[in-house]
Amino acid sequence: MAAQRVAEDVARGTKQTARVRVAVRLRPYMHMQDQKGEGACVRRLDTKTLEIINWRNATETLQYQFDVFHGEETTQQEVFLSSVKPILPHLLKGQNASVFAYGPTGAGKTHTMLGSQEQPGVIPRAVRGVFNLVKAKEREHEGWDYSIGMSYLEIYNEKVLDLLSPSAQDLPIRENKDRNIFIPGLTHTPLSSFSNFHSHFIPASLNRTTASTKLNQRSSRSHAILLIKVVRTQRNPPHRQQTGKLYLVDLAGSEDNRRTGNEGIRLKESGAINLSLFTLSKVVDSLNAGGGGRVPYRDSKLTRLLQDSLGGSSHSVMITNIAPEYTYYFETFTALNFAAKSKQIVNKPFVRETVTVPSVQVKRSREEQEAGRSGEP
Ligand code: ADP
Ligand code: MG
Repeated sequence: MAAQRVAEDVARGTKQTARVRVAVRLRPYMHMQDQKGEGACVRRLDTKTLEIINWRNATETLQYQFDVFHGEETTQQEVFLSSVKPILPHLLKGQNASVFAYGPTGAGKTHTMLGSQEQPGVIPRAVRGVFNLVKAKEREHEGWDYSIGMSYLEIYNEKVLDLLSPSAQDLPIRENKDRNIFIPGLTHTPLSSFSNFHSHFIPASLNRTTASTKLNQRSSRSHAILLIKVVRTQRNPPHRQQTGKLYLVDLAGSEDNRRTGNEGIRLKESGAINLSLFTLSKVVDSLNAGGGGRVPYRDSKLTRLLQDSLGGSSHSVMITNIAPEYTYYFETFTALNFAAKSKQIVNKPFVRETVTVPSVQVKRSREEQEAGRSGEP
């Protein structure tokens, strides 16, 4: 089937574009996020499917299916092994890859990508993984020399900022004759080891966090993009050289910024966030629909930068982070509609695993009726 499809694509002269794999990760329930004590409104059904209560009609649940569903008990190690580790070997063959964390603020994007010292996330595991793969290749003596380097940037208000050299603002994005995307003037730092990576990455991340407290949670309003580049060069003539790029992206919060009553600079930010996330969703949809139609990469800085590492011959995975509490219901709903492969309405009451006190449930069902009347979502 796949071979036939490629043959057809070649015959039609259309370039084959790779699907973006979509994983969804549900973070554990947090009491702090649930002041009304309502329990969870989302739960896992199996390794690909979840169900969420239908707010409009509590006798129904909505079931969504993805490439992978990671329930709340999933460890950082499991997320890495299933969604990220398999794509790393491609970097050593000159192919590109990208991993995104998408979802509303508070749903676990930074936990997934960065994690903590005790529970390291995708970024430290992937960088360590790349170093290990390169070491193993070098032991095989195949005649290639490898070098690893990093860049670290932020897209904020449709501007590219260099996090390794904070004075560089609003850098341009260009495309060379080989259709590779690059940013002239962006700092590229060669890396000798994982601990060397750590020593550059941590201070740069702190740069970002400091700015965020001054500028009111800027970290949830910008896209943080780590680029790991693997270059391999043939030791003997003709000294061929291949470059593989890995983008590791902690996206801006996907909450509906129009609903938060933003004004002034906040409103400008909201416009930029909505534009880039909306464009990203159009790009992913267009890649996953196949058919070789125009993919609207140029409509935002984020997708333009990722053009050579998202679709085409590259390997991409989107990890959509969601939270189980009712506070997040509408944001979760939006995120799921972006991520889902399929959606089904099932006529049965939501099975509650966290049982709450009856008085609270009665109160909620009245609120549900009111919300139902107002026509949301
Ligand atoms: P985001 O970056 O999407 O705004 P965070 O990653 O900051 O969200 O997560 C919000 C809070 O939830 C943090 O305190 C984080 O440590 C915690 N958290 C998120 N995901 C998990 C998880 N899978 N397991 C444990 N704690 C988590
Ligand atoms: Mg975050």
